[in-house]
Amino acid sequence: MLIIGSHVGFNKKTQLLGSLDEALSYGANTFMFYTGAPQNTARSQIEDELTLEALNKMKENNIDYSKVIVHAPYIINLCNEEKFDFSVNFLTEELNRCNKLGVRYLVLHPGSHVGLGAQKGIYNIIKGLNMVLTNVKNTNNVIILLETMAGKGTEIGSKQEEIKEIIDGVLDKEHIGVCLDTCHLSDGGYDIVNFDNFLDEFDRLIGIEKIGCIHINDSKNIVASHKDRHENIGFGNIGFNTLINIIYNNRLENISKILETPYVDKEFAPYKFEIEMIKNKKFDNNLLEKIKKQD
Ligand code: FE
Ligand code: FE
Ligand code: ZN
Repeated sequence: MLIIGSHVGFNKKTQLLGSLDEALSYGANTFMFYTGAPQNTARSQIEDELTLEALNKMKENNIDYSKVIVHAPYIINLCNEEKFDFSVNFLTEELNRCNKLGVRYLVLHPGSHVGLGAQKGIYNIIKGLNMVLTNVKNTNNVIILLETMAGKGTEIGSKQEEIKEIIDGVLDKEHIGVCLDTCHLSDGGYDIVNFDNFLDEFDRLIGIEKIGCIHINDSKNIVASHKDRHENIGFGNIGFNTLINIIYNNRLENISKILETPYVDKEFAPYKFEIEMIKNKKFDNNLLEKIKKQD
């Protein structure tokens, strides 16, 4: 069965229930959210009553909660030595929040080394992850998924070898995995047209069972551009057919597919339309116009 959804909001008042309602309005059967604003540290108390209500509603709608994803805020950067203690503390709290919500997967950008060099950056990420996973050791059921990155600026994680090195260094192997992002893979220089070849290589190096989520985005830029600018499905340089092949690859059948495509004209959510188009497996040239009319 296709497990597909998108990034959705999460607000203080409605919390998980509000996120679920947004996902349902898109015809999704999974979703991804931030537990607060991605760019700041303000976080509200998780209300168990809202969580419970959401869990019941998920059951009614046949949504498997174990496939729902949280994304960690971008302000966490385990590479950066000045921000290291902050990042370790905040990621620890984020894991506690995920455990309180009962979420299984937390996606994390590995970090940017900002001039330290990749080796030192990777060393710091490993050190930070080991500290965080030790902090939550007895209570943790969450798997941290390292996201494959576009390689913009000094980002770590645009090469599979870097992701492998980090995973090799993490002691608590049960709680570390990978989130693929199609835009980032393409921008990072990988050929995803022949996706089975890519998966073979990934499997040899890291292991396909480590994949816990896949972000489905088209890219505004060409292969190896290292830009990280997402595009609506079928309207970028990756293209509809390649994305459909990835979405329906039977080796990734049980993995959540999450859209992080841009709002059209910064105003209109595309997800309901993109999800429908993906289910139909047929590219619609007029989709952006339909999204603007929301009909
Ligand atoms: Fe991300
Ligand atoms: Fe992503
Ligand atoms: Zn991105």
